[in-house]
Amino acid sequence: MTNKYYIGLDLGGTKIATGITDTNGKLLATVKIPTQAQDGYEMVTRRMGDTIEEVMQKSGANASDIIAIGVCAPGAIDITNGIVRGSPNLKWHNVPLKKIIEERFHIPTYLDNDANIAGLGENRFGAGKGSKHMLYMTVSTGIGGGIILDGKIYRGATFGAGEIGHITINMNGPRCGCGNYGCVEALASGPAIARTAKEALINYPDSLLNSYPEITAKEVAEAARKGDQLSIEVINKAAGYIGATLANLVNTLNPDLIVIGGGVSQMGDLLLIPIRDEVRKRAIKSFSENLKIVPAELGGDVGVMGAIALAQCSGEV
Ligand SMILES: [Zn+2]
Repeated sequence: MTNKYYIGLDLGGTKIATGITDTNGKLLATVKIPTQAQDGYEMVTRRMGDTIEEVMQKSGANASDIIAIGVCAPGAIDITNGIVRGSPNLKWHNVPLKKIIEERFHIPTYLDNDANIAGLGENRFGAGKGSKHMLYMTVSTGIGGGIILDGKIYRGATFGAGEIGHITINMNGPRCGCGNYGCVEALASGPAIARTAKEALINYPDSLLNSYPEITAKEVAEAARKGDQLSIEVINKAAGYIGATLANLVNTLNPDLIVIGGGVSQMGDLLLIPIRDEVRKRAIKSFSENLKIVPAELGGDVGVMGAIALAQCSGEV
């Protein structure tokens, strides 16, 4: 019997990452190239296909040995037809991605959006292994999420479920990129943390942050670790907003696990401890008692591994 394989492809606004695994999910080869979205979708999809060929070559697999290909893409996805409906990052509109890949490789291909796929990846291969009702939250430039209920991605009526970054957490809060006011994304994402810190600097002339030429969430975390009072307060405030958001979701969905990923989550306990405190303070006690809130484990591989998980279950998740 010949070996069988799965391919997972993570299409991002800046990079394309593709991996190939055996049937146990062991990563055998990966390829990473820049997306160069400005070249248009025909060029980008051709280059995506080239990375698929490259991982097959690297691992010695033939196209006939690939059981399925999973693809995660940013934006609004029509899961049933495998079409990228709209992706602001890529400037794509109604791109039939599933069809394009299947026509080139004649391998069944499945598509879903990046936040769902990240949640699925953590659920099958990362921090969420064994969890049946899991909430995934990614905190980076934006805040997004994936909801796993009964072991399946919850997608909603039009595949849009999981936009947890746009939960209103302050009715009179700042304007969000989505047009609403006071979304948690506008209050606790990386850019929001940096903005809050900069706005408060005038009241903290001695803050360590004054010594940085540029302030992003990374500098705020670094200063907080050195004991900078302003930075600690800013992070605690963001964690409070995130925690309150999660408490709403805990009361709504009663998950057994929350996994937090994304660039800002790399702050680790600095962010996680106050998030846990806020959730315990606000959520229904019997829901939060046995709930675990843990950092994501897959890091930069989360998209590829999530896409592998999608391929493994033939998109039926
Ligand atoms: Zn919003």
